[in-house]
This record gives sequence, structure tokens and C-alpha cells, in this order.
Amino acid sequence: ESVVNRIAAGEVIQRPVSAVKELVENSIDAHSTSISVVVKDGGLKLIQVSDDGHGIRYEDLPILCERHTTSKLSTFEDLQSIKSMGFRGEALASMTYVGHVTATTITKGQLHGYRVSYRDGVMEHEPKACAAVKGTQIMVENLFYNMIARRKTLQNSADDYSKIVDLLSRFAVHHIHVGFSCRKHGASRADVHTVATSSRLDAIRSVYGVSVARSLIKIENSDNNPSSSVFKMDGFISDSNYVAKKITMVLFINDRLVECTALKRAIEIVYAATLPKASKPFVYISVVLPPEHVDVNVHPTKREVSLLNQEVIIEKIQSVVESKLRNSNE
Ligand code: ADP
Ligand code: MG
Repeated sequence: ESVVNRIAAGEVIQRPVSAVKELVENSIDAHSTSISVVVKDGGLKLIQVSDDGHGIRYEDLPILCERHTTSKLSTFEDLQSIKSMGFRGEALASMTYVGHVTATTITKGQLHGYRVSYRDGVMEHEPKACAAVKGTQIMVENLFYNMIARRKTLQNSADDYSKIVDLLSRFAVHHIHVGFSCRKHGASRADVHTVATSSRLDAIRSVYGVSVARSLIKIENSDNNPSSSVFKMDGFISDSNYVAKKITMVLFINDRLVECTALKRAIEIVYAATLPKASKPFVYISVVLPPEHVDVNVHPTKREVSLLNQEVIIEKIQSVVESKLRNSNE
């Protein structure tokens, strides 16, 4: 049974960056305003995510890492209108089958926190009382210690660390009311460092730099058409002053970080036709759709999203982007 669990867990957590994504999403779900990530050996030795969120109740600790236990889904209707990012209750459980997981947490009004370690879905010992300030810290050590081949293919830790930095950069651009930091274990300097702000431009500037921030045009669309294509979208796109080797596309749909290859291509086409010299833009787009129009039931590792009326939505975004670019170029 444990081999089957391990294989399944290795599917959910494919690389260190997948673990970081799940942990950070949990911290966001817990209403944190500050999230910091520390990584050692590209995440194979250590991934540590600390937040100042609402913490985990003592009575929930025994089942925290049990499969399909989630605090985020109580009824079937919830499935239809799921808002929070997690709903599968599978991420933490999976991590305990392929790594050593330790949680330290304190809830509001408590005098001390608790620390507990997990293996293969169960607590290794009773929660131990410990000092804690606010929120939760989850530590994943020795990821894939029991999957030799996987560890070998992930030896290039620089590559995985840059994936983690890229992930945190994207989160920081969208979740501007949360301050993010990401650094290598032992490093004094953080590679991502943002403070909570109410200005999207400030957030983009501190992550992607002034040359990007200076070139941004705001885009917006509010479509209250009661037909099938009801959606809201806003974001920032770079103008002709920003020249890069590849497109940076930060896409959130209903506050979930996703990929949409078709949309990315569509935007590249608009740029190539309108601003050929700046055809590899920086694009941040946040789309809000009725939850039932977004397929959230895809495999946890699949970031590629599927949408109802995808063509209509892409065309609409394309036309907003095109008209903004034309105006800016006049
Ligand atoms: P899911 O996020 O899909 O519910 P997870 O396995 O990621 O499943 O997490 C299981 C549960 O653990 C969550 O539903 C939540 O109640 C709790 N939890 C995990 N991380 C945190 C955190 N950083 N702060 C508060 N609660 C957390
Ligand atoms: Mg989760």
C-alpha cells in the first residue's frame, strides 16, 4: 500500500516547485499578510514556508496530513462555487509520502503553539507544545528521499530554485496585499522581496524591476452581458518601450495561478502585428469568471486551465489588448 501511495504522491508533487506552490496557496488561503519561503538545494534538502495566517487548530493536527481531509469544502454546492485555491485535501498528505513534513502552528488567542511531524499520512508523535508567534510554518525536508530516480533527475538545483523564484514572483504580482520573500537557505539577500501594498505597479516594480514597470499600460474590461461570456478582466501590459527575449505572462483566473497556452499565443500575435519591435511583452492579466465556467477539477499538477467559451474570452482579451496598444502607439 505504501508504494502505491508514494507513486500517487509523486504524481501530485512532481518537483520541489509543486510543493512550494501548494504550501504558499495554503498560506494565502489562511489569510496571511506575509509569507516567506526558504529553500535549500533547490528544495530537495529543505522547503520552509512561514506565514502569519490564522493557524491550524490543535484538534485538526492529527488529520492535517490525511488524504482528502480539507477544511475548504463542506458541501457539494461548495464544489460548484469553489473560491479558495485548495479543495482537494491532497497536497500535504502527498508531501508526507515523499518527504518529511513538520508543522509548527499557533491559532489566535493561544499562549503557545504546537509542533508535529508527519510520515506517510500520519503523525509521528503527539503535538509538542512550543513557542510560536503567529501563523504556521511548514517544513518539508528530504523531498523524494525514497524516490532515487526522481532525486537524480532533479539534481540541478539551480534550475528548480529559479522555478521557485519565478512562482513567488507571480504570486507577488497578483496577491499584492501579501508581502512575499524567497531566499536560499543561509543567504542574507532575498531573491523575491515585496511588502504588502495596495499598488499593483509597486508590486510589479519590486519584482520585475523599473524598466518593466515604466512601460506598463493598464487594461480593463467589465462585461456584464448576462449571456455565457460574463467576465471581468484587468491587468497591465507593456508598451513599445519594453523589449525582451521572451514573453512573460502572469495569468490568474479566479485568483488561481494558471497557464493558458492559447491565450499566450493570441497575445503574442497581437503584439507581433501591432508592435513588432516589442513582440515579447510583459503581460499580467487577472480574469474573474463564474466559477462553474472554470474547470477546477483538472489534475493538481496541471496548470493549464480549461474554460467554457474559451475562444470568446480570448478574442475579447485580444481586442482589449490591441486597442490599448494602438492608442499607446499613436
Ligand atoms: P487543501 O488546501 O486542498 O484543503 P492541503 O493538503 O493543502 O489541502 O491542506 C489541508 C488542510 O490543512 C487545509 O484545508 C487547511 O485547513 C490546513 N492548512 C494547511 N496549511 C495551512 C496554513 N498554512 N495555515 C492554516 N491552515 C493550513
Ligand atoms: Mg492546499
